[in-house]
Amino acid sequence: MLIFFVWVALCVAVGMLAAKRGRSGWGWGLISVVISPLLGCIFLLIARDLSPASGVPHPTTHVKCPDCAEFVLKDARKCKHCGTALIPQ
Ligand SMILES: [Zn+2]
Repeated sequence: MLIFFVWVALCVAVGMLAAKRGRSGWGWGLISVVISPLLGCIFLLIARDLSPASGVPHPTTHVKCPDCAEFVLKDARKCKHCGTALIPQ
């Protein structure tokens, strides 16, 4: 019985880690219940970090430059790729 609670606790931990990395906490928690928390954690660490803090362009932190279509930070006043003047949003 104890192993069941440890298993569920580890799955919840994987789900929390997934949410922190910008992924679905419930989805990764349920996957971990099926394939084991250890495998779930390994797959999660292999998968790309999608959280805004990771620097990966995200709609909440980045906008597309109208000139070169590269992602730049929302607060930028000048595109770092082509030098076009931008209006911070
Ligand atoms: Zn640009």
